[in-house]
Amino acid sequence: MYHSVGQGASSAFRRWQVDPGLFAEQLGALVDAGYRLVGLSAALDEPDERTVAVTFDDGFVDFLGATELLVAAGCGATLYVPTAHVARRARWMAGYREAELRIMDWSELSEVAAAGIEVGSHGHAHAELDLMPAHLMRADILLSRRMLADRLGRPVRSFCYPFGYHTRTVRSAVASAGFASACEVGYGLHPRAGDAFAVRRLIVTGDTRPADMRRLVTEGQDSPVMQLRRRTRTPWRIYRAAHHIATRSHAEAEPGD
Ligand SMILES: [Zn+2]
Repeated sequence: MYHSVGQGASSAFRRWQVDPGLFAEQLGALVDAGYRLVGLSAALDEPDERTVAVTFDDGFVDFLGATELLVAAGCGATLYVPTAHVARRARWMAGYREAELRIMDWSELSEVAAAGIEVGSHGHAHAELDLMPAHLMRADILLSRRMLADRLGRPVRSFCYPFGYHTRTVRSAVASAGFASACEVGYGLHPRAGDAFAVRRLIVTGDTRPADMRRLVTEGQDSPVMQLRRRTRTPWRIYRAAHHIATRSHAEAEPGD
């Protein structure tokens, strides 16, 4: 799971941005070790010990450069886009001092799809779906899927929960909207028999060394801290709801939760 491949991130976001040269080396390390790097739907269609799904969240404009590197390395990927923010600035990134980051426009997204990258939904408004009234949550999910299908003319099979937050109600809304899979954060390897609507991911950061990539995809990143956070997720969700914290920053959420 990546967010940005580029340079010049704020100090708060730097860890989540991977330098283009390093990104190429990270991909190369797995390709050289015999792994097949594909999009999320392709990986679920043909699961294999040596298949790794590459995913990107948010659709920042620097993904155009990442696409070139992916294609050059013979790799696929899935990009998850929050449709309300297409061609706009990533306001939810204010916590990272990156609210001016631009999300790709529709023609750039078409270019990416034509290069063989799967484009999935990251919801419409990039909202905390688990805290929304159910009818608005369902509408957000459906709208994002319809917009992607209409504008890109391709099947939209995969979803990614904004900030990684989901509940049973959210998962069933995503399934009812016609998606075949959905990603959380998870910090782990997705078991073959695992829930396709709670696909776990590993976070690759700007300090993930190419030499560590193979260990990452075989061992995951289940540190005791991460396990503790997962156990405390439900109380935290209740706390958020009680305090109407509707606009948490990415800094607290997606990469760290
Ligand atoms: Zn996101």
